[in-house]
Amino acid sequence: MRQVYLDYSATTPVKEEVVQEMIPYYTERYGNPSSLYSAGLAAKDGLEQARERVAELIGADPGEIRFTSCGTEADNWVLQGVSDALRNKGNHIITSRIEHHAILHTCEYLQKHGFEVTYLDVDSEGVVSPEKLAEAIQDNTILVSIMMANNEVGSIEPIKELAAVAKSRGVLFHTDAVQALGNVPIDVKELGVDFLSMSAHKIYGPKGVGALYIRKGAAIHNFLHGGAQEAKKRAGTENMAGIAGFGKAAELSGKNLDAHIEHSRKLRDYFWQRIRENITGVQLNGPVLAARRHPGNLNVSFDYIEGEAILLMLDANGISVSTGSACSSKSLAPSHVLDALGVPITKMNGTVRFTVGDFTTKEDIDYVVDVLTKIVERLRELSPVTGQEGW
Ligand SMILES: *Cc1c(COP(=O)(O)O)cnc(C)c1O
Repeated sequence: MRQVYLDYSATTPVKEEVVQEMIPYYTERYGNPSSLYSAGLAAKDGLEQARERVAELIGADPGEIRFTSCGTEADNWVLQGVSDALRNKGNHIITSRIEHHAILHTCEYLQKHGFEVTYLDVDSEGVVSPEKLAEAIQDNTILVSIMMANNEVGSIEPIKELAAVAKSRGVLFHTDAVQALGNVPIDVKELGVDFLSMSAHKIYGPKGVGALYIRKGAAIHNFLHGGAQEAKKRAGTENMAGIAGFGKAAELSGKNLDAHIEHSRKLRDYFWQRIRENITGVQLNGPVLAARRHPGNLNVSFDYIEGEAILLMLDANGISVSTGSACSSKSLAPSHVLDALGVPITKMNGTVRFTVGDFTTKEDIDYVVDVLTKIVERLRELSPVTGQEGW
């Protein structure tokens, strides 16, 4: 059976060049980069080369990149580390309702420990307004955290404008760029952000490695305490193979960025066009297909049927997709993102997220549309509510 992977926002396949870059760190290059003899120094060279490659992808200085164990750790670090560092200045944090759970659940944790959090609303396309942010900033606000690209509906936030609002009020600004990295050109200096989270496995690198950009001089305390790794900012012996793979993935991503964006956008637009031609009762969630949308993201609600049923029947045909976000797909709670966009609960239940990437082909899309058309027809035949009011 044909296998078609359409869940690039959950994770990406690791590119062959990336795997090749990683292998030596499991075989002959196993030295600890903190050791002072030559095997350690060889590993240290690899570590610093990876740091340069990741820094270059976002226009940072290598000294501003700190490796972490994942994007989630980078998000936890910045929220908890800034809260720690600026506790005497204030206890108010601003974020949005559509953030990844790595941000939202950390904010809930901080609320239990005496912090106040404002969750900004978004418009019907999932966009945060700089004016609303300006209104929400208080004298005790210490940090604003708004994601760069949303993982469910693909909205790309006006980070430069939002960061400028925070800066004008003397407030630090963080962006979770895990989903934006490799899909949107990023220059931290031009954006004016203080912190930026990244993860390797969303850009064709390995799982279990991420990074936090920390603008030189920005106030943040350590999250992991221990040895002197990462300029004494993040303890723990480095995941050398993972970091080297992340570096290679970042280098490849920088080289392929324009081609990647064009390829993804073209296939995604073609996919949506073919769905509309073949299936009735469909609705696009998130920004209309334009510059404000993640190039690979297509989030669609199908009337009268359950997204889970579509997912399982697609899987039986070798096709991998997601309902809502991968992290919440095991719970039956409706998506907090679709809810924030004002998508009605009936449409929410029939929502599927398709995300395309570098290995997706036009033939894949044609195959998926054929299968999907039959599945939707079949499920609607079975649906007791087809055509009834209330849906
Ligand atoms: C995937 C993702 C994360 C988490 O990254 P991990 O490396 O999987 O921990 C955080 N934020 C967003 C927007 C993501 O898409």
